[in-house]
Order: sequence, then C-alpha cells, then structure tokens
Amino acid sequence: GSTIGILGGGQLGRMLGQAAAQLGYRIHIYAPDRESVAADVAAQHTQAAWDDESRLAAFASACDVVTFEFENVPVDTVRFLSGHVAVRPGGGALEIAQDRLIEKNFVADLGGRPAPFAAVANRAALDTALADVGAPAILKTVRMGYDGKGQARLTSPDDADAAWDAIDRHAAVLEGFVTFAHEFSVLMVRGIDGETRFWDSPVNVHEHGILATSSLPPPQIIRDQQDEARALLAKIADALDYVGVLTGEFFATENGPIFNEMAPRVHNSGHWTIEGAVTSQFENHIRAVAGLPLGDTSTTALPVVMRNLIGAEIEGVPALLADGAARVHHYGKAEVREGRKLGHVTWVGTLPS
Ligand code: ATP
Ligand code: MG
Ligand code: MG
Repeated sequence: GSTIGILGGGQLGRMLGQAAAQLGYRIHIYAPDRESVAADVAAQHTQAAWDDESRLAAFASACDVVTFEFENVPVDTVRFLSGHVAVRPGGGALEIAQDRLIEKNFVADLGGRPAPFAAVANRAALDTALADVGAPAILKTVRMGYDGKGQARLTSPDDADAAWDAIDRHAAVLEGFVTFAHEFSVLMVRGIDGETRFWDSPVNVHEHGILATSSLPPPQIIRDQQDEARALLAKIADALDYVGVLTGEFFATENGPIFNEMAPRVHNSGHWTIEGAVTSQFENHIRAVAGLPLGDTSTTALPVVMRNLIGAEIEGVPALLADGAARVHHYGKAEVREGRKLGHVTWVGTLPS
C-alpha cells in the first residue's frame, strides 16, 4: 500500500486520515504538539519542528505523497518537502492563502470581486485606508487570522486607535463592511488531470466570527450566484494548477457574489459532505492528491444541517446521541475552551428534532 503524509494535527487532518484509511492508505501525521506544552513555549516548539530538516526529510521518505490540513504550515517547510516528495496542493496556493493582501490582489487580477480594501502597514496608513475604504469597515491582520481572530470592526474613523491596538498593531488590511443577504461557500475538488467537481453550496451562518451552521438547500440568492462564484474558483485553481479540495467563501449581495477569502484545503462548511454527499470532501481530497479518479459530489438527500459544537456545546453530545438522526462527530480534543471547535453534528434528509 501507499502512505499519505498530512501536515497539521487538527480535526481536518483527523477526518482526512479517516477517509484515507477507508481507501487502504497508511497515514503519517506531522504535527508539532501544541497542546502538551505551555502556550509561550508552544510557538517556539512548533516553529522548530517546522524547521527541523532531518525530521522533515525522514517524514518525506516515509510518505508517497504529502498534503496539509492547515494553511499556516510555513511555506519554507512545504518547499523543503517538495524537494523530497510530491506535496499537493503545492506551496504556491499556500503562499497566496497565507496573506490576505496577496490573496485579494491575486483574486482581483483574475476578475474576482473582493470587498473594497486597502493595505495597513502602520497606524498612519490606517487613516489613509479609512479615507479610501470608508466606514463601517473591518481591520484584519494580513497573516494568521482564523475563526474571526485578529479582526476588529470600526463603525467610524473614531475607532481607529482602538482597532489598531485590538489587532496588536500587526500588518493588516482594511476591508469595507459588506451588506450581504447571506454567506455561502464553494467547495471544489480538482484532480491531477485538471478535472474539477463541485459540491452544492451551503448557506453558512457565523456567530462571533466563527462558523455556526452550514445548511442546504440554500436561499435562492445563493443558488442564483453559485455559478459565478464557481467560475471564479475554477479560474483560481487552474491558475495555481491546484490539486485537492479548494474552498471559496463568498457574500451573496444584491450586486452579485463578493469574494471573502479562500482556503487551500478541506473546509468546515464542507463537513456535511461526510453523510450528505455521495463522496465527502475528505475522500475526494485524498483521491485527488493520490491521483485516483474523483468521486461523485452529488448531495444524497435534503435538507442538510451541519452545526458546529463550540466550547461548552460539546457537553450536549450525550443528548444529541439520543436523536437517532443526528450524526455526531466528537474531535476528542483534550481541552474545552470558549470559542474552540470541538465537534460537529449533521442531519441529512431531516431537520434537527
Ligand atoms: P475563517 O475561520 O473562515 O478562516 P477568518 O478569521 O479568516 O475566518 P473571515 O472569513 O475574514 O475570518 O471573517 C469571518 C466572518 O466575519 C465572515 O464569515 C463574515 O461573517 C464576517 N466578515 C468578514 N469580513 C467581512 C466584511 N468585509 N463585511 C461583512 N462581514 C464580514
Ligand atoms: Mg480565514
Ligand atoms: Mg472565513
């Protein structure tokens, strides 16, 4: 058999591993342990492991292909590994997705429409950006943000000092606040031969910047805008010669789909595909990076509801298990923290009881 290497040790890697195992692959996970050490030591520990060339070379030699579940794997790590083993998708996609400014410019150059934005390298640039973009607006760190972390909202230019402090004065991008009807994602897989397939786009609801639910069927405005968003994502993937699952987050507005961000990986808004599609995002990602034929992405039954279990919500698992239709996923994380994704639950063909 063959061995698939996965960079990153979170729930996405776990679910990729489950899909890989089903297809007969062995799995190696390269995951600096961030839970077992003190937080301040953890950052150094993690970086040292990503830089450890002898460990990386040993990992590469044990794998037939390597992929990642986490978009903040250092690009240099992927470049180093690429000298030893095929890494799919490649470092190019990672480099773009790690930097909100590069990403927005790249997508705009391909004809996509992000929200109005301006670079904010320092406090003075924030004033210029506000004059340019206007308020309300959102200030986002260029790098490392996830689940709404590293973001500050500004209702007027008076909020500039507080917002700049709130993001710890990191290099940032200021984005105009988009008035949207709904949010949705495009979930796409692209094979080694360039074949692309899409899952149906769910409507995504966020609470406090964190994905709360993804549901199908989505409102009509999303169904109307899905094709334009898909065309953009396919263009992005072709430009990168992308292999694997690629996700695009969009705002459905009265002026069409506005590009929010992309993720060069399987995505939380695609977890419903485990039970709700013929082939899940995880299985198709494995098929793509392993060079196998892609599986059918059709939705099996409607409605579909995927709800995240965040923080203390994980304590609801026993009650959820009493609902025979609830498909419960518990990630087994050691620590329950507010705002942390600890599991999810999916209903297919029926609504939550
Ligand atoms: P993820 O966990 O998806 O990577 P993130 O931390 O990268 O999240 P974003 O996707 O940029 O954050 O923003 C999180 C949420 O905040 C969005 O899904 C949306 O609900 C809201 N949001 C972000 N940018 C804007 C905007 N320009 N206008 C309106 N709402 C926005
Ligand atoms: Mg993001
Ligand atoms: Mg997002």
